[in-house]
Amino acid sequence: MMKEKLAAIFSEQFPKSSDLEFLLSRDKPRELQEIFEFADQARKQFMGEGILLRGLVEFSNHCRNSCFYCGLNKNNQELERYRLGKEEILSCVEKLNSCGIKTVVLQSGEEDGLDPLWLKSVIEAIKAEFEIAITLSVGERTKEEYKIWKDAGANRYLLKIETSNKELYGSLHSGMSFENRLRCLRDLRALGYQVGCGNMIGLKGQTVKTLAEDILFFKENNFDMIGIGPFIPHPQTRLASQKKGEVELTLKVLALTRIVTKNAHLPATTALGSLEEDFRIKGLKAGANVLMPNFTPLKYKKLYEIYPGKRCISEPVGACAFCMEELAHSVGRYIDYSRGDSLKL
Ligand code: SF4
Repeated sequence: MMKEKLAAIFSEQFPKSSDLEFLLSRDKPRELQEIFEFADQARKQFMGEGILLRGLVEFSNHCRNSCFYCGLNKNNQELERYRLGKEEILSCVEKLNSCGIKTVVLQSGEEDGLDPLWLKSVIEAIKAEFEIAITLSVGERTKEEYKIWKDAGANRYLLKIETSNKELYGSLHSGMSFENRLRCLRDLRALGYQVGCGNMIGLKGQTVKTLAEDILFFKENNFDMIGIGPFIPHPQTRLASQKKGEVELTLKVLALTRIVTKNAHLPATTALGSLEEDFRIKGLKAGANVLMPNFTPLKYKKLYEIYPGKRCISEPVGACAFCMEELAHSVGRYIDYSRGDSLKL
């Protein structure tokens, strides 16, 4: 039964939700192993043995939103806010570039004060000095802003949906609209960005049915990158008392997403590495092919606290790059220092 279901979701253009729900409900160690091994084979077939690196620079923790799961939410008065200047960002990019990394991810909260022309000038300065791809992750913006940054040289954009279920989305976000999220994803695609999406595992109200819908949503939208991480409760949020997402379920969603989407870039997320142990290793064995070393300056790293217990917040900038080599070797693979553009182009 397992074999047929796995073969079906792999071969069908649009897998059945019921097959995904069946697989998401498996919990015996032998069954889980079968799912992870199938995903690992698919990863090998479509992505090869190389693990791509994306250097993360969290340049501002200001945010206008109040997502119920996120420590950066605007109501968190205990968080010291920061914003890096252009020169500080360029210095981070120089460090990651000197480690051989060919992608920088410029990430921030969704801040009102972000001047689109300032970000444009940052993109242009990076492009003038370094031969690297730029991924932006600065939230919901107008199509005009997305266009300014694309024209300036940005290549990719990450905008996680967290859940593709409109009702559940509404229960996690006040003052935000599911339709606008979808509008942003459409605009980004229309402008020629490589588009990344993703979800969070372990949310209250989430079921195997909504998770199966998430995987089908990723497939239908043909995303170039998909980030899947466990929910980790943050004390300064409305969801502080809820329990965290299960590792096994996170790994199952990751593995099934690999099998269904084939050649999307899937990171072993930092959230997955921030639980009791570094579960990124398991992620790499269940379909992931990307790691995201952090190049945010040390003094700011701990302030970009979407969830608590984030891994590696006291390591000096650049230390992560070497750690990535060790992670790759531990799973018998190697770090691929190429740009790692979308294979869907
Ligand atoms: S998830 Fe993003 S938009 Fe929501 S509060 Fe956190 S930083 Fe802001």
